[in-house]
Amino acid sequence: MSDTLHIIGGGMAGSEAAWQAAQAGVPVVLHEMRPKVATFAHQSGDFAEMVCSNSFRSDDDERNAVGLLHWEMRAAGGLIMGTADRHSLPAGGALAVDREAFSQAVTAALRSHPLISFADEEITELPTSGHWIIATGPLTSGALADSIRTTTGAESLAFFDAIAPIVYAETIDMDIAWRQSRYDKGETEEERTAYINCPMTKAEYEAFIDALLAAEKTEFHAGETAGYFDGCLPIEVMAERGRETLRHGPMKPVGLTNAHKPEEKAYAVVQLRRDNALGTLYNIVGFQTKMKYGAQTSVFKMIPGLQNASFARLGGIHRNTFINSPTLLDDQMRLKLRPNLRFAGQITGVEGYVESAAMGLLAGRMAAAEIKGGCLPPPAPETAMGSLVNHITGGAEAKSFQPMNVNFGLFPPLEEARGGRKGRKDRYKGYTDRAKELFTHWLAAQG
Ligand SMILES: Cc1cc2nc3c(=O)[nH]c(=O)nc-3n(C[C@H](O)[C@H](O)[C@H](O)COP(=O)(O)OP(=O)(O)OC[C@H]3O[C@@H](n4cnc5c(N)ncnc54)[C@H](O)[C@@H]3O)c2cc1C
Repeated sequence: MSDTLHIIGGGMAGSEAAWQAAQAGVPVVLHEMRPKVATFAHQSGDFAEMVCSNSFRSDDDERNAVGLLHWEMRAAGGLIMGTADRHSLPAGGALAVDREAFSQAVTAALRSHPLISFADEEITELPTSGHWIIATGPLTSGALADSIRTTTGAESLAFFDAIAPIVYAETIDMDIAWRQSRYDKGETEEERTAYINCPMTKAEYEAFIDALLAAEKTEFHAGETAGYFDGCLPIEVMAERGRETLRHGPMKPVGLTNAHKPEEKAYAVVQLRRDNALGTLYNIVGFQTKMKYGAQTSVFKMIPGLQNASFARLGGIHRNTFINSPTLLDDQMRLKLRPNLRFAGQITGVEGYVESAAMGLLAGRMAAAEIKGGCLPPPAPETAMGSLVNHITGGAEAKSFQPMNVNFGLFPPLEEARGGRKGRKDRYKGYTDRAKELFTHWLAAQG
């Protein structure tokens, strides 16, 4: 096999992957279809274009998981973070950037690297030989998406995310909620208690429906909706179809007995399902929504048991092409069926500019190590980068897999935090201290 690395897509992930591999001494060809072939969201032919907001979110590397990811990417000499720092704008604790200057600078850095060359083309089929990284993002072109689907199977590729909100398990009030699967189904005790249930009285249900109908919603972007109704309906659309619709759908109260008040029949029940192997995250079943983020928090806190809930991520529905990474990828981010192909970026089921660039950083380094005859293990799951790659390649529930932002719920819990002796802020500092040490070791081991 040739020692050249080919990368499809010069977005956040592909740009970072190209930089990392080239810096490791591996020749790279970056294949990018823009500006010849457009997407509905990109405006230019530059690499690493920010398609919507100009924010890389919190820059707090002590108490915020995305801030920690910034820290790790800086420590690893990331092109995206380094360029963002040089073009940052005042934004309180967040890292906002001058988007045009940022993507022009990324483009200039890549174009002036002696080991990177460019192919201005759309790749329409998954390549069968050579070393490749597929980093074509949420708006992967139709022809390539078809080829991915043919290779991996129809079930393995989604064109929309339908994200139900995800709650930190420790913030659910278990004096109100209880664990039980509908009709106690399951072979093992774990299966019979796989869901967390939140009961509602008639008055609570009516108030919830009123709030849902009144909440502010976001609109789809122009060109985004094709094929949308193949996916799941947002809860507010279900509520608009009739006040009882949800009670006969995701909120049906049947087959469940309130462990705290067995004699009382709930009028409706909201169910939460485990979202990761660690059991630290739960998604609200069937609650995909287009409500604005602020509205979601207040409406979902009306659910008994979730009055003090913290959300690892809020719900949404977007055009988003992504693969079922937990079943398809190995821990080297390679397609198990065709290990010469790696995937990186949003197409792997991470969400956001920073997370996508981080997966590009990792894929670029892993591919370069492999081309040079070695093997780079992923960073420890206690690091931000390691927690994300661990989540997408095995930690997440494959059946309900939906794109994920980095958050502390993906991290193995700290031992001393289990007894609740530390406040949450101190605990986050504990997570980031532990991560920085392990990430530093991981980098040092690469020489
Ligand atoms: C409408 C919209 C709004 C978003 N808003 C935000 C936001 O505000 N904040 C945030 O953090 N994230 C946002 N995202 C998610 C965002 O797209 C990702 O976080 C990030 O850009 C993903 O990086 P990526 O490298 O995986 O994909 P991209 O940055 O999209 O890069 C993929 C690249 O691959 C190219 N490509 C696609 N198919 C082919 C092909 N067949 N051959 C060659 N090239 C190809 C594309 O032209 C593109 O340049 C948004 C996404 C969408 C669709």
